Parts: sequence; structure tokens; C-alpha cells
Amino acid sequence: MKIFVINTGSSSIKYQLFQMADSQVLASGLLERIGESTSKLKHQSARSPEAVVREKVVPDHEQGLREIVDLLTDPTIGVIRDTSDVAAIGHRVVHGGEAFKRPTRIDQKVIQAIEEHIPLAPLHNPANLTGIRAALKYFPSAPQVAIFDTAFHQTIPRHAYHYAIPDEYYRKLKIRRYGFHGTSHFYVAKKAAELLGKPLQQLNLITIHLGNGCSMAAIQNGKSVDTSMGMTPLEGLIMGTRCGDIDPAIHFYLVDHSTLQFRDVDKLLNKESGLKGLTGTNDLRDVMQMREAGNGNAELAVRMFAYRIKKYIGAYYAVLGRLDGIVFTAGIGENSPEMRRLSTAGLEALGIEVSDERNAETVKSARFIQGGNSRVAVMVVPTNEELEIALQTQEVIEG
Ligand code: ADP
Repeated sequence: MKIFVINTGSSSIKYQLFQMADSQVLASGLLERIGESTSKLKHQSARSPEAVVREKVVPDHEQGLREIVDLLTDPTIGVIRDTSDVAAIGHRVVHGGEAFKRPTRIDQKVIQAIEEHIPLAPLHNPANLTGIRAALKYFPSAPQVAIFDTAFHQTIPRHAYHYAIPDEYYRKLKIRRYGFHGTSHFYVAKKAAELLGKPLQQLNLITIHLGNGCSMAAIQNGKSVDTSMGMTPLEGLIMGTRCGDIDPAIHFYLVDHSTLQFRDVDKLLNKESGLKGLTGTNDLRDVMQMREAGNGNAELAVRMFAYRIKKYIGAYYAVLGRLDGIVFTAGIGENSPEMRRLSTAGLEALGIEVSDERNAETVKSARFIQGGNSRVAVMVVPTNEELEIALQTQEVIEG
């Protein structure tokens, strides 16, 4: 069975085609800058060692998917005869609000519900819908499934998702913590359970997703009970360009005492803050290099980034009561031993100890990095959101 996974952004389509029997990636790629003067499509096929790179005008997502389908069915490097070879399509959808607690087969009602959630994710949900509509056109016979970033966190209890503002704003405007990166937190939690040799339902874990966006989840008996992102992805950890936790009164202070308007503050905190705001770059590799060269801002940024993670480890340990494992994942979590070291340093009293030797290893598979005296397992687990979307899609269509 072949499943096609589509992740549509406002000007991009990221995709992977899986052969589900052995989770093999038959083709993958990224189309960027849709609607701009030139778009770039980079496509990798299992039938060719070289990636295909095409630069041309792609005015919209529908045309973009057409280009991708042409490559998937290409006589030389194609991996399917025609689109009817694809058994199902899995779409990443960012915001499912409270309506979607699990992966859902897409029909007109579901499309309408995703539309209704646009106010909660004004940039993401419209893009996701464009991808769904284009896929309906080019894969008319394949069932389509929506996998929501928010769904895994729908088990968070009320006292953890409610903000301390008058209840009417929750009732009327649905203002609450939703959390994101759910597909990744769930995938790495499952992999951690395999590594620990125990059913996920018996495990308490803290999962730490550190990419450009960063979030943590407290997982009790396999279910998310708290997460650091909030109603939007802005809350919580320090990220590539987002500030994470901040006193909300700063918004008003900025508007009162600078030339910024509220829209500017939104942009400042989402796009110009975090590592980028502190150092000029959102890429931790560059920040680490600047730090090694003695740059004080980079040193501060790295310390702040690690300190915020450590604070959440403490908070979530308290929430869970018993902790079986901590899981690091995504670009930074998988590849930065220094960030893993700094964010767990000094936690021996909590039974958390990372081995310098194991932490320094560069293997790409899921592994333990705790020291011999650590009561809590510490793991590095590569995330694979696309594969998880494909697996959940398969589960839905197989009923
Ligand atoms: P996205 O959220 O865009 O999927 P990724 O999960 O790819 O992001 O993570 C991107 C982040 O990972 C960047 O900050 C990048 O600098 C960081 N990263 C990747 N490799 C390394 C590395 N070897 N050392 C430190 N940071 C790394």
C-alpha cells in the first residue's frame, strides 16, 4: 500500500510517498516560493540517486501539486503508474481546535470544520485547505485523511488548558491552550516506549521537540497532560524566532512607549525574537559558532534557551509525579549535545544525569544517553512526523 503525505504551507508543499509494508520512502520533496517570481521544486525519487531540481513559475498550490504528480508518474524516475496507485493521502492540518481529537477522514463536513478553525490558525489552516483541495482534484480515487497537530494534546485536563481569564472568553472565543507538534510528541513517545521495552500506556515521559519551533509535552500513562505551546505556537520555550513565555503586559508597554502598533508587536514576538532577536540568527548552529568565537549575545542566548527547557523539565516532573524518561528530538534535540547537556545539567537531585560520552555520540538512531546513576532514562529519538502521518492515515482507512 502506498500512502502520500502532504504538508502544505502558505507558499510551500512538502511531501513524501511511502510504501507502507516496509515504511520505505519512494519519493519526497519540497516545493517552495509558490506564487513568487520563481518557485523551486526539489524532488528525490528512490529510482534515482540524484535529486531533480526545477525552477519555474508555479502560480498556486494546485499547479504545484500538478508538477509533483508529473514527477511521481514520470516514465524514467516515477514511482507510480498513475495517481490511482496511491491508496490514501495524509494531510498535516495545524489546528483542529476541540473538534478533532483524532485523525479524521476528510469529507465536506470536515473541510467546513477546518475552515471554521481558520481564526485560530489564520496562516496555517487556509494553506492546509489549499493542499486538500488540490489533492482532491489530482487523486480523486484516494481517501484523504487529516492529521491534526493539536489532536494529541486534546487529553490535557481543563485545569491545565484553561487560562485564568473570564470564562466567557473560553466559551465564546475558544481561548485556551491547544498545543502543537502533537504528531511529533506522540511519535517519539512511541519510539521511546519501544526503547524502554514497556507499553506507552504505562510510561510517564517528558518529550522535548527542539526545531525552529520548540515545545515540550508532559505525557502521563501515554497521554499528553500538558504542553508548553498555548493557544498559538508563541507560548513556552524560546524558539528560532519566537520569544516563548513573556509577560503579556509587555505588549501594552511596547505600544505605549515605542512606535510599534499591536500588529508590529505580533511580528516582533513571532518573527524577530527568540534566537534571532538575541543574536541576529535563528539557526542554533550559527549561534553556537558565534558563542565559541566569544560572542556574548550568543552565550546569553544559549544559556537562556537551555534555562527555559530546564524550568519546564522541573515543572513537568512535578506535574507527572513519577518520571520514566526524557526524550530529546528534532533538529536541535537530535543534533546538539551541548544543548542537551546544558538543559539537563545540575538535575542529579531529580535523578536525571546525562553521560558525557553517550551524549557526544553522533549515531542517527534512537538511543539512551543517561549516565549509570540516572534514575530517569534520557533518550535521543529522531522524529518522523511524515511517517507518523502515513501510519495514522493507514489506521483510519483500514478502520
Ligand atoms: P523545523 O522546525 O524547521 O523542522 P528542524 O527540526 O530541522 O526545524 O531544526 C532546525 C534547528 O536545528 C536549527 O536551529 C538548526 O540550527 C538546528 N540544528 C540542526 N543541526 C544542528 C547541529 N548539528 N547542532 C546544533 N543545532 C543544529
